[in-house]
Amino acid sequence: MNDWKDRDLGMGRGITRRDFLNGVALTAGAAVLSDFLAAADMQAGREQSSDYYPPALTGLRGSHPGSFDAAHSLRDGTFWEQAGTPVETRESYDLVMVGGGISGLSAAHFFRKIAGSKARVLVLDNHDDFGGHAKRNEFSSAQRTMLGFGGTFSIESPAPYSAVAKSLIEELGIVVPSYPRYVNRDLYRSFGLSPKIFFDKETFGADKLVANPMPRVGGESENDKARAHAVEIFLQEAPLSEQAKADYARLLTEKKDYLPGLTSDEKKARLARMSYNSFLADLVKVSPELVTLFQNMPQPLFGVGFDAVAAQDAWGLGAPGFAGMNLDPAPGRGMNRDAIPNEEAERYFFHFPDGSASIARLLVRKLIPQAIPGHSATDVVMARANYATLDQENSPVRIRLNSTAVRVKHQGDPGKAKGVEITYARGGKVYTVQAAHCILACWHVVIPHICEQLPEKQKEALSSAAKVPLLYTNVAIRNWKAFQKLGTNAIYVPGGYHSYMNLDLPVSIGGYDCSRKPEEPIVVHMMKTPCKPGRPARDQHLLGRVELFTTTFETMERNIREQLTRVVGPGGFDPANDITAITVNRWPHGYAYEYNSLWDKFWLEGGETPCEVARKPFGRIAIANADAGAYAYTDGAIDHAYRAVGEITKR
Ligand SMILES: Cc1cc2nc3c(=O)[nH]c(=O)nc-3n(C[C@H](O)[C@H](O)[C@H](O)COP(=O)(O)OP(=O)(O)OC[C@H]3O[C@@H](n4cnc5c(N)ncnc54)[C@H](O)[C@@H]3O)c2cc1C
Repeated sequence: MNDWKDRDLGMGRGITRRDFLNGVALTAGAAVLSDFLAAADMQAGREQSSDYYPPALTGLRGSHPGSFDAAHSLRDGTFWEQAGTPVETRESYDLVMVGGGISGLSAAHFFRKIAGSKARVLVLDNHDDFGGHAKRNEFSSAQRTMLGFGGTFSIESPAPYSAVAKSLIEELGIVVPSYPRYVNRDLYRSFGLSPKIFFDKETFGADKLVANPMPRVGGESENDKARAHAVEIFLQEAPLSEQAKADYARLLTEKKDYLPGLTSDEKKARLARMSYNSFLADLVKVSPELVTLFQNMPQPLFGVGFDAVAAQDAWGLGAPGFAGMNLDPAPGRGMNRDAIPNEEAERYFFHFPDGSASIARLLVRKLIPQAIPGHSATDVVMARANYATLDQENSPVRIRLNSTAVRVKHQGDPGKAKGVEITYARGGKVYTVQAAHCILACWHVVIPHICEQLPEKQKEALSSAAKVPLLYTNVAIRNWKAFQKLGTNAIYVPGGYHSYMNLDLPVSIGGYDCSRKPEEPIVVHMMKTPCKPGRPARDQHLLGRVELFTTTFETMERNIREQLTRVVGPGGFDPANDITAITVNRWPHGYAYEYNSLWDKFWLEGGETPCEVARKPFGRIAIANADAGAYAYTDGAIDHAYRAVGEITKR
């Protein structure tokens, strides 16, 4: 992929307004506490300044430099030898939340509903912005603000929202059924654009953009007529062998039982234990080219490819090959919840231009009204948050950013203690606060390092919840004329650095106007999961996490520019002129790990799951976060916040 010179790609132009912290160039393995102190010092304390506005920072965001070094140093056992004596703040709270994501913010909200609005609550988060994975990216271009989602894309879940989660969404003023009013579903179609696949010459022998006949796994699909047309074009134009094309046509039409002689349950049990790739290669016996072509399709859902997705789950997702298998439509044992179709859940969908950062912002507005002006769930979209108000002494709720909890300890015997002491690192110093209760709404893998008093079995369960790494990249471009010329708005790139690249979902709401014409600027959203096919899912996630922590922004930027040039360059896209900003949201700890029937025996055979062991309350400490349900969705984060608050208030 090194055919382009950096100058042609626009690498030297400095038009990307990078987060100044990128210069610190920290990596996970190499990070030492002094690096952390240097990086963290640059942000902590700046929250009071009027130009402190993290959503507008570009460059390396998500788990940005300076946000994770204290936690990694704690993990590596080097933190306490370098940290000074903690400073006693003399602050005391009714509740301290560790983690300012949707779970932590909702827990703060639920707690105040029970304890009253005067209850004193402190939310600690290690990032420079609140919201956890629900992050807002802002870009300014040609007098226009453009928004992007840095993480959580939308209100959507494979299972219906619980009554608790639904009523919180309603309480925030979000009217989910009103979504069709804001989205322009036909915009891209009206310009003749449709989903395509970019075949690259290293993998498929030729660089070629071809109609995508396969609905995106877990995503929106074209109608039947459009799909049939796409299949026809695909079979004519795809740079695949005649055998692979014949196999694809067979896969779509053949109604064969590839496991004859077994009952439906027996077949499902077999399918739950084999990957979809094995099903295709060994049972359906399709050409390896097709296996390669399909491999990365489920990444947006699972963070891994079809080598690590059970055939039973692929069946649930509507992947081809199962038409003649006579499988009972009821979900099989060990199915991933994402793979179980549910119409009620599918209807419950709402996308804000900044994704579910709007939910986080609405929660912050409830907790600290002066932080975000306005009164409705639509006016929040364009409201500018005032970060200086988040942590004020006279406010009952305080949100302290750039602050990593490093120790959470009962004051005495956990069974009898009257309070909890929370120690956190901020700006190179270490501080303590006292609280009647503490909810750990942070990532579960962190908890054993900060709460050493927990039983070993619980720590083990918490440690097993290592998350799924992801890269969510937003590229602001001057116009989408090249996309129009090539007739596409959504491209699957099976051999690319990023596997998907999509023009922004056209939603106009609350005074925010989406890009409506090819001549107008827009945000291109690109998605990568750094998985390592062929290994068990957890190993893939571990290696992918290391990759994300050790890849420099410069390398990512070059890959992004090259990929855009290669895919949409033939439509006239010029990376040096057309790219106005790049924000890479790096999530080495991304989706909550969801159980997988290929490796997690308990998920197939029943019994207590690790997340049930992990989330047990411990004295005055309760445990929330999406990890508590092993479910990578916003409603999971809300439901477990509610449960955790119930545990500490004994509702
Ligand atoms: C890229 C991406 C896209 C997603 N898209 C969707 C979607 O479209 N729809 C959907 O429903 N769900 C989606 N999800 C899942 C959803 O975002 C999460 O389930 C939900 O936001 C999790 O909220 P949370 O509060 O449990 O965790 P988080 O959002 O991770 O928040 C936890 C916070 O705790 C902080 N923390 C960790 N350790 C410490 C410490 N020691 N001290 C202080 N703070 C700490 C973390 O840094 C983080 O900010 C997506 C997730 C990702 C990563």
